[in-house]
Amino acid sequence: KSFEASNFIEEIIIKDLQDGRFNYVQTRFPPEPNGYLHIGHAKAIVINFEIAKKFGGKCNLRFDDTNPTKENIDYINAIIDDVKWLGYDFGDKVYYASDYFDEMYELAKKLIEKGKAYVCNQSPEEIRQSRGTLTQPGIESPYRNRSVKENLDLFEKMKNGEFKEGECVLRAKIDMSHPNLNMRDPVMYRIIKTPHHRTKDKWCIYPTYDWAHGLEDSIEKVTHSLCTLEFEDHRILYDWFLDELGVFHPRQIEFARLNLTYTVLSKRKLLHLVENGYVNGWDDPRMPTIKGLKRRGFTRDSIVDFIKTIGVTKSNSIVDYALLEHCARQDLNKKAKRAMVVQDPIKLIIENYPDDKVEYLEAVNNPEDESYGKRLVSFSKELFIERNDFAIDPPKGFYRLKVGQEVRLVFAYYVVCTGYETDENGNVVTVRCTYDPNSKGGWSLDARKVKGTIHWVNAKDYLDVELRIYDKLFLKENPEETEEEKDFTSNLNPNSLVIKLAKAEKSLLEAKDFENFQFLRLGYFCKDPDSTKNHLIFNKTVDLKDSYSK
Ligand code: ATP
Ligand code: MG
Ligand code: MG
Repeated sequence: KSFEASNFIEEIIIKDLQDGRFNYVQTRFPPEPNGYLHIGHAKAIVINFEIAKKFGGKCNLRFDDTNPTKENIDYINAIIDDVKWLGYDFGDKVYYASDYFDEMYELAKKLIEKGKAYVCNQSPEEIRQSRGTLTQPGIESPYRNRSVKENLDLFEKMKNGEFKEGECVLRAKIDMSHPNLNMRDPVMYRIIKTPHHRTKDKWCIYPTYDWAHGLEDSIEKVTHSLCTLEFEDHRILYDWFLDELGVFHPRQIEFARLNLTYTVLSKRKLLHLVENGYVNGWDDPRMPTIKGLKRRGFTRDSIVDFIKTIGVTKSNSIVDYALLEHCARQDLNKKAKRAMVVQDPIKLIIENYPDDKVEYLEAVNNPEDESYGKRLVSFSKELFIERNDFAIDPPKGFYRLKVGQEVRLVFAYYVVCTGYETDENGNVVTVRCTYDPNSKGGWSLDARKVKGTIHWVNAKDYLDVELRIYDKLFLKENPEETEEEKDFTSNLNPNSLVIKLAKAEKSLLEAKDFENFQFLRLGYFCKDPDSTKNHLIFNKTVDLKDSYSK
């Protein structure tokens, strides 16, 4: 089979297939279950699963569950959920690094036997200090030359829980003056006496990322281990472990992380926002988590499309948040049902419309797709319209309601504004008009020009709904840029959520949780799962107007 590369990773893979280094392709997505997935993880998911798909291989979902102090089952379940929601199939089996702890332990003993690993009693602080710098070699540990027998014995005692946390570690014996600091006798195991969510208290030694990751890949026969750029400097160690052990040797390839403007993408920071109540949980619609984006109304297709649009490169950059919104709009324009909601209502009274009459007018559900059909919307003498669709003394070029001007009520009739009433503060409460009974459906036989079209809701037959209008969670393009002594939370936007009580057409009673809508002229919204039958809540996804420019 011949393949065509669409990015540098695929070029490397194709070459590996041609050279015979591998005769199949297998990838993996390896989250640590210490938080919820965010849009950055979506990039890794799309890259890994799409490459497996393209080359006819598989992609494992593997939990890198090597640190029990930060991990739990809820995170595991949420991650499984999110990968499925993004539309990717990882087969029947979910993989866990913790399933390989026995095998890793045996391989560590093998390294000790080869004289390539030793138990070291230096404290974490001493280890750090003796590591040296880029310009200065490190200092060898006084425990470096223990005999194989002593090391095997001490390592077994470590495993059996005979030492305290921090008392000793297992280190690879490589080269304390190696130009790459990661090669200066890196730690392979440390003692952690916290029960693990899967292996319970079977282990009290846990492998470090550098020791564990290559083994996990090797055991699963992954051919291409794709990770982010910060692991580039670790590849030499990844290769060293696998070479020393003589086991199946995957190729590690690094790509640039996703960074987004106005957003932090680090589980640690997102956890900080959740734990300190800056947001209402991991799935708050302002969060860049997959669950947050879903609740905000972003579709899986728009997220995947966004990731494919930004592509795969090896240089770090910051992507404009507006591009993600642009992708959402493109998708929602095709898929979202239309509905009418008035978010800042004033009354419109049609003076020449019969008092008790109610009629049902046809409204198109989606002008982009006929298969969505039509619905009937009720209409009467009293309507709600948006406050800003009327003006007492508008500037030139205002085509909506002002006294004497004719506008189209969408799907309904032409009306001419005849007057208005204000309250004691001068605020408009009611606008009056007359309608042309011969303009039903919003057009007239004489084809006279009506420039403005506005939306409306029947004031005798409507729903009260809550709109949650979101803005960016952070005020700064780069939220990490802070004044001295302050952290990234000082850049939080105090107005990132505004609640509005709005009037909506009755058809929204049938909305399903997470269902997407375009509220005419207001934007895209999605039904929040916290809604009840008597209290519908809609989250604003994005404005209708696109602010993305290339
Ligand atoms: P965080 O910094 O948010 O904690 P992480 O890299 O520690 O992220 P992991 O659970 O280890 O989180 O990530 C699983 C996979 O997702 C890794 O392969 C990692 O490289 C990738 N990944 C994480 N964040 C991003 C990002 N912003 N862009 C692209 N890939 C990412
Ligand atoms: Mg990680
Ligand atoms: Mg992390």
